[in-house]
Amino acid sequence: LRDELGRMDRLSLVGQMAASITHEIRNPMAVIRGFVQLMKERSGETHNDYFRIIMDELDRANMIINDFLSLAQNRLIDKALTSLNDIVADTIPLIQADANLRGLHLEWNPRPSLPELWLNDKEMKQLILNLARNGLEAMKDGGSLRLSTRTYPGIVELRVQDTGVGITQIQMDQMFEPFFTTKSRGTGLGLPVCLSIVEKHHGSIEVESKEGEGTTFIVKFRIEESLAEAAAAAGYEVGFAG
Ligand code: ADP
Ligand code: MG
Repeated sequence: LRDELGRMDRLSLVGQMAASITHEIRNPMAVIRGFVQLMKERSGETHNDYFRIIMDELDRANMIINDFLSLAQNRLIDKALTSLNDIVADTIPLIQADANLRGLHLEWNPRPSLPELWLNDKEMKQLILNLARNGLEAMKDGGSLRLSTRTYPGIVELRVQDTGVGITQIQMDQMFEPFFTTKSRGTGLGLPVCLSIVEKHHGSIEVESKEGEGTTFIVKFRIEESLAEAAAAAGYEVGFAG
């Protein structure tokens, strides 16, 4: 529990920092990117490899800033009654493209007539993409990624299962901390962002993993609390209209 509190403190600190420095950093970076692009066009074929590295690194820095931003967005978010199946289905083409590039299988098993939840579409997509990308990145020599939904009393569940390297106990203890990464080009912000999104949706994340066999991330959403928030929001709207 002590660790849990420490993590939340660090998360909100990260959020506040992100809110204050994001604009100051994004603008000069956009200018740099524009001029580098211009230089690239004017220099013909010379130094193409250097330019590609500069652009890649600028894009990576931008990605980190975007992840920072989503941690900072703790304001009232725009939600609607939605089937999680529809949101996953929207992300499947993106995940499929990534899986194809890596020569990996993708399976999607939606549970029919899944109860609707009160969800922010954009954030849920980011959650699914972050988990799916981690799963794909964990599979170096072939394998398959399985996405599925289920429901049982009070719960809607999303599973993202890979047949990758698995997670050691030491990684398991730290992987939700901002900036923890075992990848040479990782940001270490994917899972903290996932956790922050799930917590804003009355959910929790469980992880099952076996080294060398694979990992399953299980995200559980509490239906009753989700619908209570939907009802409260509807109440406000009626109140304003009247
Ligand atoms: P990043 O992907 O940039 O490293 P994340 O926060 O998404 O940051 O993940 C943190 C770390 O958790 C990863 O570097 C990896 O060590 C571990 N991890 C997350 N998902 C998986 C997975 N599906 N299989 C194995 N390791 C994982
Ligand atoms: Mg990641």
